[in-house]
Amino acid sequence: MKYPKLRELKEAITALIKGPYTTKFPAEPHVAMPGFRGKPTPDKELCIACGACAEVCPARAIEVKNNTETSPKTRDIIWHYDLCIYCGQCERLCTTQKGVTLTQEYDLATTDRSTLYSGVQKELVVCQDCGEIIGTKDQLLWIYKKIGPLTGGNYNIIFTAQNELGLSSEDSNTKSDKEQVQRADLYRLLCPKCRHVALVFNQTGKQI
Ligand code: SF4
Ligand code: SF4
Repeated sequence: MKYPKLRELKEAITALIKGPYTTKFPAEPHVAMPGFRGKPTPDKELCIACGACAEVCPARAIEVKNNTETSPKTRDIIWHYDLCIYCGQCERLCTTQKGVTLTQEYDLATTDRSTLYSGVQKELVVCQDCGEIIGTKDQLLWIYKKIGPLTGGNYNIIFTAQNELGLSSEDSNTKSDKEQVQRADLYRLLCPKCRHVALVFNQTGKQI
C-alpha cells in the first residue's frame, strides 16, 4: 500500500478545514486572480484609432476598417474576441497607453461568434487634394497636445487643432478636382505626396 506524500496530506487536511479549493462557477460568479488577462476593452474616449495595436497583435485579432464612402469619413478599430489570444500586447504597446485595457472578464462563451467583438469609431482626416487618409482627427489632436509648440513643423496638425478651436474651416479653401496643387496649397490639409508636389514641383509655378 502506498502512503500519501506529506504535501498531499497537508493539502487534504487544509481543504477539510478551509473548504475545497475549487469554486462553484458557473453556478456562482468567480473573481479572477489579480493580473489575469481577460477581455481587451477599448476606451471610446482615450483610444485615438491610430491602428498601432493592430500592427503588433500576433493573432491579427484587431481589424482596422476605413469607411471612406461615408460622410464624415471614419475609421473603425475592432477587437475580435474569437481570434484574440489574450496576450496583452495591444494594451502594452498602445500609443496613448490608455486606449485599451485587458479586463478581468473571461466568461465570453457563446454559440454565436459574430457577437464576439467591440470597437471604437473615429473621424478621419483626409488630404483635401487627393483624398488620401492622413490619420484620425483624434490622433492629430493627441499629437498636438503631446508635442505642443513643436507642432509648428506640421501644418496638418496645426490646421486640425485650429479647426477644432473654430479658428478655420476644412471647407474654407477647397478647390475643384481639375486644379493642380499650388504653392498656396501648403496651408491646406495635404497628404505627404501632395505636400511634396506643392513644395518641390510648384514652387516656381511648374505644373506636373
Ligand atoms: S490581447 Fe493580444 S491577441 Fe488579443 S487583441 Fe490584444 S494583441 Fe491581439
Ligand atoms: S490608441 Fe491604442 S488602442 Fe487605440 S488604436 Fe491606437 S494603439 Fe490601438
